[in-house]
Amino acid sequence: VDVPGLDGRVSVCRACPRLVSWRERVAVEKRASFADQTYWGRPVPGFGPADARIVILGLAPAANGANRTGRMFTGDRSGDVLYAALHRAGLASAPTATSADDGLTLYGTRIFSAVRCAPPANKPTPAERDACLPWQVREFELLRPSVRVVLALGKFAWDAYWRIGAAGLGEPVPRPRPAFGHGAEYVGETITLLGCYHVSQQNTFTGTLTPTMLDQVLARARELAS
Ligand code: SF4
Repeated sequence: VDVPGLDGRVSVCRACPRLVSWRERVAVEKRASFADQTYWGRPVPGFGPADARIVILGLAPAANGANRTGRMFTGDRSGDVLYAALHRAGLASAPTATSADDGLTLYGTRIFSAVRCAPPANKPTPAERDACLPWQVREFELLRPSVRVVLALGKFAWDAYWRIGAAGLGEPVPRPRPAFGHGAEYVGETITLLGCYHVSQQNTFTGTLTPTMLDQVLARARELAS
């Protein structure tokens, strides 16, 4: 299977009963608020070119963002912050992402999450995280020829990388594992893992993550990928 084939397969996965129920319930309950749109309510595939040199690894789709639009970080405040920064860094064609057919293009960058379905309270269970792991491993296997930098958005993605990325990219796992931090950097054999605070409103509204801090990490990712 190639990357588009994987996108198609993951988008119909129903392996986690609690998440299937949640993602579909949100879609039904919120559909009225977005009556002019088709509410996705399914697993969210990766977004970006199949030969990306940079992977941005998130936690999971947001209930009314990616779970609504079907594209990562599209249609919510977190995405507003992330895509504006990607555009400033020259990695996105536009500073906003409103819907899956808004024409936005990513340059050399692909975004996907450690868990592909929106979880209640943004908290997947360990069993759900583990059930979703093979999708991410497969995606990294397909991207392995091109990817050089993995930018982990938040500690969940950073911790997930050691299982997902290491398996899919064939990277050794150091012991002890390096700790997550904003700007943390781990140089592997062919991949550099970068840590970045998550672009959640909790971080951006409080100033824990500022646009300048995000710009600095993306500039570093570009530098490492070139
Ligand atoms: Fe499937 Fe992953 Fe969604 Fe679970 S979280 S239903 S494994 S796509």
